[in-house]
Amino acid sequence: MSELYGAIEAGGTKFVCAVSDKEMNILKRVKIPTTVPEETMAEVFKFFDENPVCAMGIGSFGPIDVNKKSKTYGYITTTPKKGWANYNFLGEMKKHYDIPYVWTTDVNVAAYGELKLGAAKNNESCVYLTVGTGMGGGAVVNGKVLEGFGHPEMGHITMRRHPDDKYEGYCIYHKDCLEGLTCGPAVEARAGGVKAYDIPKDAKDWEIEAYYLAQACMAYTLILSPEKIIFGGGVSKQEQLFPMIRKSFAEQMNGYVKTPDLDDYIVHVELGDDAGITGCLLLAINAAR
Ligand code: ADP
Ligand code: ZN
Repeated sequence: MSELYGAIEAGGTKFVCAVSDKEMNILKRVKIPTTVPEETMAEVFKFFDENPVCAMGIGSFGPIDVNKKSKTYGYITTTPKKGWANYNFLGEMKKHYDIPYVWTTDVNVAAYGELKLGAAKNNESCVYLTVGTGMGGGAVVNGKVLEGFGHPEMGHITMRRHPDDKYEGYCIYHKDCLEGLTCGPAVEARAGGVKAYDIPKDAKDWEIEAYYLAQACMAYTLILSPEKIIFGGGVSKQEQLFPMIRKSFAEQMNGYVKTPDLDDYIVHVELGDDAGITGCLLLAINAAR
């Protein structure tokens, strides 16, 4: 029996599959474009046929069904991505490999990776937020990824509008929810089509972005009291955002909750693009025990 552990970070653009030993040394890794399930999954099976593992952690784009009591547990549910809606992802994996699995969201596995080996090391809780093509969040609470009847959809909370923001919002369900106001495409649409990395660092756009992200941090602070709030994703590469988010957070919180020092509380992802894969592997190792 294999003593190796598997990870799949299933994203809307690409899948990353990896295999590690129990010390978390990554021995093999492959990137597969997310096209249609038949094509993408054929590559996934090819990789794990060649690199057998004894347990696997999967962090998937979604929404997904994580409710073990549900008939569609393990499915990707309502995605607009062609072919993936109502796709029995975990079921297909189980048909190929009869091993223990952990199945949760891409952001939950990233939160778990950051908690154990990244920015939230030596804590029991954190929130991980990604601001990229979309905007979403996952959390670890008391050492466990946060799920209930389903999984959190932190990107779609209702926002108080910035008084100077006239942009209508990008979310196809809610228009000006958190994702609709802050994801990369929203930033670019607000700026009249300028690429996010070309918007000047001192533009008002970043103040507006920081205002909304701070508002989100306040909501998650009030609801979850995490020990850290960690930002990943393309938009969070704009480092000037961090002091602006902290300042706006302090203003909006207005002294009500005494948080850890904001420089240590609202931080950038430490594991970078490896947060998700790291979380998947750690969860796979747990599952094998
Ligand atoms: P994905 O969400 O697909 O995994 P990213 O997190 O890189 O990928 O998100 C892509 C989005 O992030 C794009 O909409 C782009 O506008 C934005 N983005 C990528 N790099 C940067 C950057 N350096 N600065 C600001 N925005 C960026
Ligand atoms: Zn929304």
